[in-house]
Amino acid sequence: MAWRCSAPTNAGLIDNLTTANILSTPRIIAAMKATDRAHYSPRRPYDDAPQSLGFGATISAPHMHGHALESLAPMLRPGASVLDIGSGSGYLVAVFSKLVRPGGKVVGVEHIKELNEAAERRFVAAEGTLAKELLQKGEVVFQTADGRRGCPGEKFDAIHVGASIPVVPEVLIDQLKSPGKMFVPVGDVNEDQYIYEYTKDAEGHLTRERLFGVSYVPLGDVEYYYARGRKLVE
Ligand code: SAH
Repeated sequence: MAWRCSAPTNAGLIDNLTTANILSTPRIIAAMKATDRAHYSPRRPYDDAPQSLGFGATISAPHMHGHALESLAPMLRPGASVLDIGSGSGYLVAVFSKLVRPGGKVVGVEHIKELNEAAERRFVAAEGTLAKELLQKGEVVFQTADGRRGCPGEKFDAIHVGASIPVVPEVLIDQLKSPGKMFVPVGDVNEDQYIYEYTKDAEGHLTRERLFGVSYVPLGDVEYYYARGRKLVE
């Protein structure tokens, strides 16, 4: 069981995810080890379970972050561009930024302003001057916007969606480069949800694969989240 990956330290957690065969790509393992979850998860950072961020949002469980990173791994090369929709805690933005530099770009889109500001603060607290430099150069961007529109006008090698949506919007598929990959939970919030992997080949041909069942918060309206709490968990 994935929750058995819990450990007393970040390194121990990542080792357990590797032993459980959730992680296998050395670059992904190194980037996760170099990104201490304690900077991004207000509570129990090394438990293999989601934790509340406030506003009804959660930082996803470490095994889900692991699955997402492994799925997108072929695209996560230096110079690549990544869109993280529903970026929440900012943890994945930080891991992606380690994998795509130098020269890459990571855009986190989060619709709760307070969460987005906290994510940027956490990123700066964790990464120091490097974070400030990346933010200044626009190589890491925390954008407060409705992620259902993606990041209009740009295309990405990899798109990660951190909240579930009944139907994947065409605009998100259009924002995938050829080749490109998207990791997205699909389904209504109180119904069955599954992770889908969308792959565009170099010719722009799209394929879709259903991976496994999940339980995500919805990629929905701001009001849904504000109704679930107006206080940041710190
Ligand atoms: N990957 C993040 C997941 C956070 S939970 C992490 O591990 O920290 C999902 C996030 O999606 C929440 O922060 C929520 O506020 C955000 N979200 C939900 N609907 C959204 C929308 N329409 N646009 C942008 N963000 C959205």
